[in-house]
Formats: sequence, structure tokens, C-alpha cells
Amino acid sequence: MKDPNGIERVEESVIKHSGFTFLIIDHMDNLSVEKVQYHNALIIDGKDVDFIRQIVRRVRSHNSPDIYLKPIFILKGINIHDALVNKLIDGTLFNLDQIEFIIPEVERILSRVSDLKFTNSISFEAQMIEKLISFMYTCEIQDLDPIPYVYSGINYAYPILSVNFRQNDEHTVLEILDIAEQEGIFESEYVDRTYLCSQCSSGHLSYREVCPKCGSSNSQTEDIIHHFPCGYVGPIRDFRNEIDDQLDCPKCNKRLRHIGVDYDKPSVLHECKNCSHKFQDYNVKAKCLSCQTDNSVEQLNGREIKKYSLTKKGELAAINGFVSTSKDIDEIIGTVKFETFKTMLKYEIERLRQTEGSSNVCAIHIINPSQVYSKIGSEVQKGLLKDIVKVIRSNIRSSDVISFQSSSTIVLSMNEIPYKISIRILKEIIEILKKLMATAFNNMEVNFEHKVVQLDYKLSPDLHIHQLTKDFNQ
Ligand SMILES: [Zn+2]
Ligand SMILES: [Zn+2]
Ligand SMILES: [Zn+2]
Repeated sequence: MKDPNGIERVEESVIKHSGFTFLIIDHMDNLSVEKVQYHNALIIDGKDVDFIRQIVRRVRSHNSPDIYLKPIFILKGINIHDALVNKLIDGTLFNLDQIEFIIPEVERILSRVSDLKFTNSISFEAQMIEKLISFMYTCEIQDLDPIPYVYSGINYAYPILSVNFRQNDEHTVLEILDIAEQEGIFESEYVDRTYLCSQCSSGHLSYREVCPKCGSSNSQTEDIIHHFPCGYVGPIRDFRNEIDDQLDCPKCNKRLRHIGVDYDKPSVLHECKNCSHKFQDYNVKAKCLSCQTDNSVEQLNGREIKKYSLTKKGELAAINGFVSTSKDIDEIIGTVKFETFKTMLKYEIERLRQTEGSSNVCAIHIINPSQVYSKIGSEVQKGLLKDIVKVIRSNIRSSDVISFQSSSTIVLSMNEIPYKISIRILKEIIEILKKLMATAFNNMEVNFEHKVVQLDYKLSPDLHIHQLTKDFNQ
């Protein structure tokens, strides 16, 4: 039965409009958000700010895109001043009769979600980057701005990323953003600097001026006075008398008249009430409210807070799934970095210019990697790539090198060997890999394509790589 506004109540907490179902969660519900995956959007009946914050965090920090990318609306009688929550919701409604006005927004977000392919990323960092850019893509957000936030462990929150971390681990957010920038996913712009505890990386620090001798913050401060006529310099207490509040010089007994005329206050003197040490310059210490370490300010870990914007490469990575960072694949034993591979290729091309001979570069590509990677977990993926490298390694000479161009494309050299023999060896490697995959995964087919290019000293390393990989399915 539809009411005059076109709303159909399907269940107690589910309503339907224009073919979309909305799950309604109110403060009487428990905090489970699993049910969100069966509906097109979520409406939180907001009476309690803490409840709203918790539900929004739970949805947005979930690991499944069926949950964390769902549009969220607040049905509210109150204003929400939480900056983090406001960045993580898609709109507000004052009553359910207004539901038709949010339909275009739901349609737009869900259609953007359907552009995306999801993979299982190799590492935690890659997984976080994938989540972050997927959300930015579906909400058509280009910029990731840091917001000053009291509940953040590093004093600034990047809402859709920070929501995945507890306060104690929030410094990891900065490492992940650094990696994403190195991968070319983001461009950045400096905003501010934040200081983190040297022991636990918390940004919740209490700064105090302390005694340079004993570290106590318990001290008192006095002005120092310089009497011009006689040149006497001493703390203000030396100038006080017991009768009135005038100042008299203890050396020449003259009464002090006007500051700047006959006397001056050139500096101050601090006296520690703990150890009685007298000093002119304090040390500044920062006590960590999280682990109690009293850091000297030089020890603090200063980190740049930047604003990030998604690059074209980042947008493509959101659509195709972000499987691994360069660091992840650098860690696979038996391989060299892709940059190193290109340098070695350059030297081999140079060598061929001076000598007769035949050398080759080869590539093996996993077809449709996002399908493969979406079915296996990150540890299995790492194992899979290690096994592939092992097979290749045992079929080529020890002087040849292997590298990953990406998590789905492996390149290798076969130097000083005829082109035809390279092709034969590569075909043998592919056969062994196919058998290996068939035993490792009984209900999943992993397919490979491959190519060999003979080195031509007239062409650059980049052109060779291009020749090698241009025909692969992406
Ligand atoms: Zn002291
Ligand atoms: Zn004097
Ligand atoms: Zn600490």
C-alpha cells in the first residue's frame, strides 16, 4: 500500500519509494549495520547525536562496499554540529514525506557505485586507499580536506579515512596518505603542521614551561630591574621596601621614578619552587595525555597536514580497483624494483649497440586480475605472486631479472639468448603456472597472456616496455 507521497511501508523499518528501499534505523535499534547491504540507502532517525555518530562510523568503516558506500540520510529534529558526521552523510530530511527529494541523490550515488570494480587489495594500506578513493568517486568529491577535530588522535581528521581508525592508531592515516601520494593517486597542498608524541604518536599533548634543571613546571617569575643612575641590576624584590609600594634602589638608595627614564625591566627571572634553581629561559615540554611521556619539544614528531586532491590516475584506480602499492610488490623476494629493471634494460640496450647478440624482454600478464584478486585474501595474493616468481626464477638464468610493473604484470629479461628460444622458455613457464594455479585454486581459473620483444638498440627502454605490454587486456 502506498500513501499519497508514494511511500510504501514494506516492513516495520523498511520503506520503499520509486523502486528503492530505505532501511530506517532509530535509537531503539541496536548498533548492527549489516542489514544495510540489502537496501539501497539508510535513513537514521536522529534524536541522539552519539547514536548517529556511532551508526555513521560503523557504516563508513565497514569493510564491505555493499555497506560503506551506501547513501546515508539523517531524519532529524536536531542540528548536528559534528564536522566528521556532516562530511560522511549525504543529506538530511525533516520528515519521511520529503523522501522524493532525496531520490535523485540516491540514484546518482548508486549509479556511480555501479561504475566501480572491487578487488581484494594485497596490503592493508592498499585496501584503505581503495576504500578512500571509491567513496570519493561515488560522492564526486575531488578534494580531501583535513578538518580540525577534537576527537582525532592527531588533531585533524580526514573523515572518510580517519573513520577506519581508533584514536590511538590514527597517525596511520598520515602514512596511508603519503603512500597514496607517492603512487600518484593524489596531489597535495600544505595546510598546517601537527606534532605527535615520540612514543605513541598521539597528538594530544599538554605544553608546559619547565625548569631546565629538574623539569618541574612549578616556578615563579619575577621582573629584573636595571637602575640607570648607579647601574645596579637585580630582581624586583631587592627594590621593595616595607613601608609603601614604591621601589628604592638597594645600592644607591634613590627612589625609582619612571620606567624607561631612570630604570628599565630588561628581562625576567624564574625560580623553580621544586629545586630553587634560578634561570632566565624555560625549557618547553609536551606531556602526552595518552601515554604520559614528557617529551622535550625537539623530540616531537612534526608531521605535515595537507589537503589532497584526486588525480586522473586516482580516479581510474577507483574505478578499476586498487590492488597494491609499489611497496607491496617491492617486498616480493626475487624481484627488483621496476625502476631498477628499466635501468638494467638501458644498459643491456647500450651493450647491444657495441656487440653483436640477441637479448629479449618478456612479460606475463594475469588476465582480469580484479576478478582473481576479489576472490582471494591478501595473504593468499602475496603467496600467489611469490609462487609465480619462484616458477619464473627456476626457469631463467640467475643473471636475468624479474620485476612487477603492476600487481598483474610481471616483466623479465632473457639476455644473450635467441628470440625463438625465449619464446619457447616463456611458453613453458606459462604451462607450469597454469598447472600451479589449477592445483592452488580448484574453482577459479587464472589465465595468463604473455609477450616477448627482442631488444633493438635503436629503441629506448620505455618503447620496449610499451611494445611489450600494449596489447594486454586491462
Ligand atoms: Zn627545578
Ligand atoms: Zn641605584
Ligand atoms: Zn604518547
